[in-house]
Amino acid sequence: MTIVLGGGISGLSAAYYAANNARNSAVILLEASSRVGGWIRSIKSPTGAIFEQGPRTVRPVGLAGRNTLNLVEDLKLSNKIIPIGSSHPTTRNRLIYADETLHLLPVSLKGIFKTISLLDRPLINCLWTDLRAPRISKEDESIYNFVQRRLGQDIADNIISPMICGICAGDARKISVNFLFKSLFEAEQKYGSIVKGILANRLKNIFSKSKDDAVKEDNESTSLSFTLADRARKEHWALWGLQGGLEQLPQALANNLRKRGVRIQTEAKCQKLTFKSNRVELLINGNIQECSRVISSLPAKNLAELVREQHPTLSAELEAIPTVTVGVVNFEFQGDVLPLQAFGFLVPPKENLPLLGVIFDSCVFPQKSSTVLTVMMGGAWFEKYFGANPSEDYLLTTAIDHTKDILRIEEEPVAHNVAVLKDCIPQHVVGHTQRVKRIHEYISAHHIPLGLCGSSYQGVGLNDVILSAKQAVCDIVQ
Ligand SMILES: Cc1cc2nc3c(=O)[nH]c(=O)nc-3n(C[C@H](O)[C@H](O)[C@H](O)COP(=O)(O)OP(=O)(O)OC[C@H]3O[C@@H](n4cnc5c(N)ncnc54)[C@H](O)[C@@H]3O)c2cc1C
Repeated sequence: MTIVLGGGISGLSAAYYAANNARNSAVILLEASSRVGGWIRSIKSPTGAIFEQGPRTVRPVGLAGRNTLNLVEDLKLSNKIIPIGSSHPTTRNRLIYADETLHLLPVSLKGIFKTISLLDRPLINCLWTDLRAPRISKEDESIYNFVQRRLGQDIADNIISPMICGICAGDARKISVNFLFKSLFEAEQKYGSIVKGILANRLKNIFSKSKDDAVKEDNESTSLSFTLADRARKEHWALWGLQGGLEQLPQALANNLRKRGVRIQTEAKCQKLTFKSNRVELLINGNIQECSRVISSLPAKNLAELVREQHPTLSAELEAIPTVTVGVVNFEFQGDVLPLQAFGFLVPPKENLPLLGVIFDSCVFPQKSSTVLTVMMGGAWFEKYFGANPSEDYLLTTAIDHTKDILRIEEEPVAHNVAVLKDCIPQHVVGHTQRVKRIHEYISAHHIPLGLCGSSYQGVGLNDVILSAKQAVCDIVQ
């Protein structure tokens, strides 16, 4: 029997892939809270608009992006997909709020030759900075240091730091470049500069393209079905969401699992894991349950507690993957109150504001007659701005005051939702890749029947965590 710990999207996906595997006799999923879905939560406002408290959009590209679309298709959710094309204004228009002004990032090739308001130079200039910067051999460093060395401090402060706030609510001075921007880091290590590395990889791709094209054409001509992932590629989707909110995805997964006999136990908190020679013992709400293998989708910190007594070394490595807390405030305003159609804006940490950014939800997914915005606050700086236990009122007032001021909105919101998402995003800090390698080596060397998935290890995006679940099932079944 396989037990999956955690009923967020990665635990549900792990149970799904485990149930698909004929070598798994039975699968049970244990979730500590009273609901499945983890950080994915779509709430209806009184007027019927959707407030996403967690994720809202997913990227369709790459192996991980295609894998998620295949899952969506298998779950019969294709008709609920809302595709966002690459020419949609929300895909093209990205804003940064700095020096009390909203700056639009260049949207065309021509734009990168013009001096942009955010920097005192055209964006193209940073390529010369990169070509002139010396190569420094390293195993890893922070994204901030890497970008400052290779592209200039203005790019590190004004473009990359806010981008990291948008990706993981994190501090670019701590996040690992070798993990998050691996290909750019390797470009310097192998070719001496980002530009040279990108050009070298482009050339390599061109030479291998004719061969790949022949294989692709062959596949396309013989393939009988046109998948959702094929559609996304042909129609140039940049992002997608789901009608009724992204929570439809974990709900559909849970329904699918229940229909196939997978037991989902909510309010079942695992308190301890003990690995015996031929079985695993789990302490759940004070009772012992046994199984032959465990897949943990828990945040690394939570798993660290469960294995501390038997495997203190493993526990210490897991514990060293930090997390940050995000304050989320969703607003609904009557009518259109926005100055322009865009994905939203991000705030560089050097502005010393409690806001990480604001997403213009109703531009991405239009509502009948209202504007929906989501304000993300705190992240790596949560305690600095809000202390350990801020009141919802304080979060709400902070969010509304800054948002109205920055976007010059006169009206008051007609509805809102406030949440503090404690420890919601793991931080892949300098040395993360090596740490995850040591964790896997420890598990393998000690023959522990434990698979790992979730946002603590391979990336925080939904695509990453769903693919990590598939991989964990493969690893543990082998
Ligand atoms: C505000 C926010 C916005 C985001 N936006 C996007 C986005 O737009 N696009 C995108 O791709 N990604 C986004 N992400 C990232 C993505 O949502 C998460 O990485 C993903 O949902 C994590 O899923 P998970 O299953 O790994 O973890 P979780 O959702 O944390 O699930 C873990 C589950 O384990 C349970 N648990 C914990 N301890 C125990 C225990 N001892 N026993 C049993 N159960 C336990 C928890 O209750 C929880 O349900 C966002 C994240 C946040 C927080």
